[in-house]
Amino acid sequence: MEIVPGIHQLKVPIPGNPLGHLNAYLAQGDNGWLLVDTGWNVPEAFDALEKQVGEVGIGFEDITQIVVTHFHPDHYGLAGRIKQLSGAKLALHQVEKDLIESRYIHPKGLLAEMAEWLRLNGVPEAEVPTLQKVSFNVRDFVLPSLPEITLHGGDRISTGRFNFEVIWTPGHSPGHICLYEPKRKLLLSGDHILPNITPNIGLHPQSGDNPLGDYLDSLTALKQLDVELVLPAHEDVFSNLEARIEQLLEHHEERKSEALDALEQGAKTGYQTAARIRWILNDAIVPFEELSPLDKRLATMETLAHLELLFTEGKVDKVRRDVILYSPL
Ligand SMILES: [Zn+2]
Ligand SMILES: [Zn+2]
Repeated sequence: MEIVPGIHQLKVPIPGNPLGHLNAYLAQGDNGWLLVDTGWNVPEAFDALEKQVGEVGIGFEDITQIVVTHFHPDHYGLAGRIKQLSGAKLALHQVEKDLIESRYIHPKGLLAEMAEWLRLNGVPEAEVPTLQKVSFNVRDFVLPSLPEITLHGGDRISTGRFNFEVIWTPGHSPGHICLYEPKRKLLLSGDHILPNITPNIGLHPQSGDNPLGDYLDSLTALKQLDVELVLPAHEDVFSNLEARIEQLLEHHEERKSEALDALEQGAKTGYQTAARIRWILNDAIVPFEELSPLDKRLATMETLAHLELLFTEGKVDKVRRDVILYSPL
């Protein structure tokens, strides 16, 4: 689908995942095309990508640059393979380049660190082995590849026809970037801003100390951009950027007060706090105990992101004994 003249949206399926599909974007250039995000490294995704690239009237060999907004498997998974087929140069933010080795190439250390981290945040011993490995198999959907171009934010990515400015937007992942085209007033927002889904922001061993604080700051900074159309990595394109930013800011204010309320009866670990918060799945409230192991881990990480922000703001106290305990100030 040609979203604006010269920019095509490609729908890449994410089999068995509730997100449904990833939106990759192809931007035309004077001497080659730019591909933004790629999809999982599975046959269904690769075939869909190949077919839609063909429908644009080009082949992989016409792609000279690949930008990955962040290193989650649905964005980064196929980058290595497309690079091999096209000879394109891959660009990724510095922070995530530095984490690829420990996340995808030699993950044993990270697995051990994750188990320790879960214990420290109050996950019961019986649940640690399951929660520790719950996302381990997504590594199968990634062909790890190091970038030729390291981004820092403020960089320019040009195709000749389009001139994108790289904006570092940490939060959903520590090296997440958006691409802004000021002349066309376009924002390729990755997973930073989606029209309906609230991007997951969680504290974990690779998230940085205050991912929600980072997220809200990088969200607020985008308010000043002159944007007519947002091209997100999931769901559909939309135009009301500022209103959507306001909604997301408001959502996190509410979640912060829920986390604070959950601490009312005394000090709690991240896990215990998460167990006292309302979780909504497919529009239904689901008790924490009934969440799947993956959702339980995400819920705990998300709760901890809110608690760490409250700690930074001086609204909760944090003490470390055998576990980390948060309490209201
Ligand atoms: Zn993501
Ligand atoms: Zn995604």
